[in-house]
Amino acid sequence: MSQDPIPVRGRFAPTPSGELHIGNAWAALLSWLQIRSLGGTFVLRMEDIDILRSRPHLARQIIDDLYWLGLDWDEGPDVGGPYGPYTQSERLHYYEHALKQLERQGYLYPCFCSRADLLAAASAPHGLSSEGPAYPGTCRQLTADDIALKKRTKQPSLRFKAEHEALVFQDGIAGRQECDAAGGGDFIVRRADGMFSYQLAVVVDDDMMRISHVLRGMDLLDSVPRQLMLYKALDMHAPAFAHVPLFMGPDGKRLAKRHGGTSLAALREAGTAPERIVGWLMWVAGLTEHPEPLKPRECIPLFNMDKLPTKPILITDEKLHGLHGH
Ligand code: GLU
Repeated sequence: MSQDPIPVRGRFAPTPSGELHIGNAWAALLSWLQIRSLGGTFVLRMEDIDILRSRPHLARQIIDDLYWLGLDWDEGPDVGGPYGPYTQSERLHYYEHALKQLERQGYLYPCFCSRADLLAAASAPHGLSSEGPAYPGTCRQLTADDIALKKRTKQPSLRFKAEHEALVFQDGIAGRQECDAAGGGDFIVRRADGMFSYQLAVVVDDDMMRISHVLRGMDLLDSVPRQLMLYKALDMHAPAFAHVPLFMGPDGKRLAKRHGGTSLAALREAGTAPERIVGWLMWVAGLTEHPEPLKPRECIPLFNMDKLPTKPILITDEKLHGLHGH
């Protein structure tokens, strides 16, 4: 029996805890181009699950900045769509439902370990080892009595049991990846303060929003094993992944706000035309020979995943210079 092909659907999923910078714009543009070049549906999802770090005005600004750049989406917080709401803080009941399902099936256990471990869980991890050292499994062995006793004085977080298993997946840019599912340790799906983790929310949302293609920054490559474990446990389908390399400053650190002037808002303020930014991003991606101004739509026929760089991209001051101007 022939099956209908899975519709092509991709998304950009910013966290409104800071302004969009050119590194985010690069991931947004490439994800948009991937989906538009395949004639698919593009979704914008606002990942404000960490309410302590997210700011509503930044969510509005991100939407403005993306439109200003010339990107658009078929479904999103401002335009709605069949799989909404598209803002994570409005989807907590879905995460709760998934959590209950995992709990019923015995995938979770309460963890009473210190707050320092827990802080990292609700926001998407950034950094080379994204969730820090693997959790040593301290609370895995607690008996029902231990748990009852500890609960009297402390709210636990909930961890997913990562069992040893060979995980293999193909990344559209980083290539074939092979790892032990337990390598990163048991990970948090709900923090002690009740907040759901990035890992749980992103899997539930990508599944419920029928996302077939995820293209995002390389810092999230090492989150894939955790996400694959959740997809499997929840009996959901994992999308195809592609992780684009990050922008690095001349000091070898991730190009972010600390290098100044690279937020879209700052560039816009300085009078830089959006076409110049798009053209520059295409050039940095190796998809054009020169950084000439381009509108996103003009870039669709130029998109070619095989041409994208696979290593971190050094953004020198000289390279950045090509970005400024009208
Ligand atoms: N919200 C995440 C971030 O801003 C991205 C999540 C994802 O693309 O899976 O880093």
